[in-house]
Amino acid sequence: EAKKKNGNAAIIYSSDLPGSSNSLLRLETKLHHALQHHAFELHYQPKITVQTGKMEGMEALIRWTDDELGVVSPLQFIPFAEECGLISKIGEWVLKEAATQVKQWNDTYHLKLRVAVNISPKHLAERTFVERLKDILQEVNLDPTHLEIEITEMSMLDQNSELISKIQDIKNMGITISIDDFGTGYSSLSYLKQFPVDALKIDRSFIKNIRKEKGTAMVEAIIKIAHALNLSVVAEGVEDEQELRILKEYACEYVQGYHFSKPLNVQDFTHHIEKNLLS
Ligand code: C2E
Ligand code: MG
Ligand code: MG
Ligand code: MG
Repeated sequence: EAKKKNGNAAIIYSSDLPGSSNSLLRLETKLHHALQHHAFELHYQPKITVQTGKMEGMEALIRWTDDELGVVSPLQFIPFAEECGLISKIGEWVLKEAATQVKQWNDTYHLKLRVAVNISPKHLAERTFVERLKDILQEVNLDPTHLEIEITEMSMLDQNSELISKIQDIKNMGITISIDDFGTGYSSLSYLKQFPVDALKIDRSFIKNIRKEKGTAMVEAIIKIAHALNLSVVAEGVEDEQELRILKEYACEYVQGYHFSKPLNVQDFTHHIEKNLLS
């Protein structure tokens, strides 16, 4: 099951933890253990405003190092956590950790950085999602405008009125909502006018091909759709100056990628703030 969904996950199931169903149980136990013993960590990747070159916020990305398995990519364990029902607990941990950290940075350096958190469709679908989100913001005392939620098109497959009003509730709180990996899902574009979102994140696969004629046309078209709907655009996976130049030409608002910075741990991100925002 899980294997089908994500090719990378096969690494966990086949080689690292031999003995199929037993190994799945062990992985589930490991994830539980990681939650309880604070083995997860967040790294943060700067998000830059194209026009000014200034960092306006960052994306929180989960990291997990297991004693036996070593570093396990979120591309491997997030799909598994979704299947075994642990994703909401992990997601709540990420929300609280990211909110606490950005609050600390903003307070310490008098900034208004906004942290973007990836939320799994299964977690978003929980009946209590909005309630818990409010609790966390209150506990941390974070200004909701300093939080952004990234959801994939997968979350939008089911265009029911309950989900639409849930997203409206989140937006009404002052939280920014963006569509992650835009252009890679299987949903129709019609959800874009149904859901009150703020931004589209162009998937890295499009940026990779941006120099090719058709690749440029695709990126241009996505940016035009976004702007026609009053949405801003974030390009992910920007790795060089030339990609940036093309994105600038088409008025893409924000960029993220190795060209600016890899995701950084808390200490390195703090240095990044000190070096880039305080002078
Ligand atoms: P995503 O949200 O689309 O995140 C972007 C991924 O691209 C990250 O991989 C990031 O490290 C990588 N990346 C950023 N810039 C570049 C670049 O210039 N070049 C290349 N080659 N890669 C770049 P990462 O951290 O391995 O995360 C992979 C995916 O795992 C994320 O994709 C997201 O879907 C999921 N994920 C990560 N953290 C969380 C989390 O806390 N919760 C949930 N539900 N999912 C998460
Ligand atoms: Mg993301
Ligand atoms: Mg993405
Ligand atoms: Mg992506």
